Amino acid sequence: MVLHQVGHPLIPSNIEIPVPATDQLLLRVIACGVCRTDLHIVDGELAHPLLPLVPGHEIIGTVVKMGQKVQGFKIGDIVGVPWLAYTCKQCRYCKRHQENLCEHALFTGYTVNGGYAEYMVAYEQYCFPMPAIYANAAGAPLLCAGFIGYRSWNKIREDAENIGIYGFGAAAHILTQIAAFKKKNIYAFTKRGDTLSQMFALDNGAHWAGDATGHSPVKLDAAIIFAPDGGLLPVALRNLDKGGQVICGGIHMSDIPPFPYSHLWEERSIQSVANLTREDGISLLQVAPQVPVRTTVRIYTLEEANDALNDLRTGKLNGAAVLVL
Ligand SMILES: [Zn+2]
Ligand SMILES: [Zn+2]
Repeated sequence: MVLHQVGHPLIPSNIEIPVPATDQLLLRVIACGVCRTDLHIVDGELAHPLLPLVPGHEIIGTVVKMGQKVQGFKIGDIVGVPWLAYTCKQCRYCKRHQENLCEHALFTGYTVNGGYAEYMVAYEQYCFPMPAIYANAAGAPLLCAGFIGYRSWNKIREDAENIGIYGFGAAAHILTQIAAFKKKNIYAFTKRGDTLSQMFALDNGAHWAGDATGHSPVKLDAAIIFAPDGGLLPVALRNLDKGGQVICGGIHMSDIPPFPYSHLWEERSIQSVANLTREDGISLLQVAPQVPVRTTVRIYTLEEANDALNDLRTGKLNGAAVLVL
């Protein structure tokens, strides 16, 4: 499925099977998750995508061919491919262990072709061996929703007890299970009256669920915002205890309305999270099987990719959409 022009639906297309470079794997795609970032790319909210583009950056695939220099994998291995496709290893960010900020990074399904296809190539050093329980469609949402959620989580002070999550989609449902496993209290804030999402949050281990427009029942030590609504930031800030943190987990957010400095004072802080490092991925894939995290997925065929994107856009999904080939 190919994006030819932003703002337009993906078009089913016949494309040639790509040839792996010396340090790349050729994968036959088993499943590919549909992430909100895909929606931002298709809708033109992220600048300069590769065009034409095969979107998709939560890929589970089987290695069917390899470049000559590949050392870490063999034919038949099932691997995961995330958003971070490649980094330069030379820029100042790479050198100081911030490869997520690399000046020359490539991103799967954005600046290089992704997994809304039968075959794709990926740089082996950015692929993950998948634990057996996640070597299928259920593992796909871990590769972005899981990784970015866990990176957001790791920005929070370790002694935080009461943690708010704004926007209860794919990332939140994975993270809430991990939080419950770590004996933290998750307060899930959803759109007003969205009782289905609130029930979904409680099913995944949330301590409390309610409307984002209402007050939190307790002062929060931290809040993670996954919803792309800048209006939630001042709301989350008002619910924070002294020294509390707001972490913005999304790649795109609408503008943030003004708020009084007193809401930020007393050492409250606001931080965004960008992309992922490979370390984030490794640590999430270590903790997920211990919980064990169980992803809720709605399955679509590859040809139904536009339907999956629409369902995500209209908020019709509980959990994650996954294309299965
Ligand atoms: Zn770099
Ligand atoms: Zn994503």
